[in-house]
Amino acid sequence: MSIYKPQDDMKSRREQMVKRDIAGRGVTDRRVLEAMRFVPRERFMPARDERRAYDDSPVPIGHGQTISQPYIVAMMTELCELDAESSVLEIGTGCGYQTAILSLIAERVVTIERIAELSHRARRVLESIGVKNTTFVVGDGYKGYPADAPYDAIVLTAAPPSVPDDLLSQLAPDGVLVAPVGANEQRLVTVRRSYGRFETRFVCNVSFVPMVPGKDEPS
Ligand code: SAH
Repeated sequence: MSIYKPQDDMKSRREQMVKRDIAGRGVTDRRVLEAMRFVPRERFMPARDERRAYDDSPVPIGHGQTISQPYIVAMMTELCELDAESSVLEIGTGCGYQTAILSLIAERVVTIERIAELSHRARRVLESIGVKNTTFVVGDGYKGYPADAPYDAIVLTAAPPSVPDDLLSQLAPDGVLVAPVGANEQRLVTVRRSYGRFETRFVCNVSFVPMVPGKDEPS
């Protein structure tokens, strides 16, 4: 006799999502695929939207913000080129879904969110799935978090008009920053710090919420 458990259904839908929407679109990093198979996306969204957890799309999470499309999370994580010794800075914790993926792969993660309630909620969800290597900061992502710099990877999940210098200065040698940049038409770029220079590469067009200027930033 088999007993139906909603979690089993979610697990098989997650497997399907990884096969179809992530590996199926060319993400090959084994660590990223494993993390995507593990993290229960339904835990990061309002209960009423749980059935949409493995849809191939972003989903609203309140405060005018969204949980990113799984493929975009996987693709941006792959671009970070992480291993078990990496340190990562994430700007825009939001619901914490991408934070969870990063935390499972990297050695340590610092994640900054300007809305305290989102940061606190994300911290609780990550604790509930056993994540312990992540520092949650409520503050202005434009400034980064110099106390724990340099970072092997910096990933932005909100779009600034251009790549903030303060963030570039917190990149380790050979580190990579992954960011959506621009106002209406955003471009996803990677910026690598290589022998003291910054090399920018265009990846694809994307659509993220704008990165809100901090008090000292021009609006
Ligand atoms: N990473 C999330 C998506 C985050 S949406 C996921 O995995 O689904 C982008 C987040 O960036 C929002 O929560 C928004 O509040 C936050 N944000 C916008 N501007 C910011 C800033 N200047 N500093 C820190 N966080 C910011």
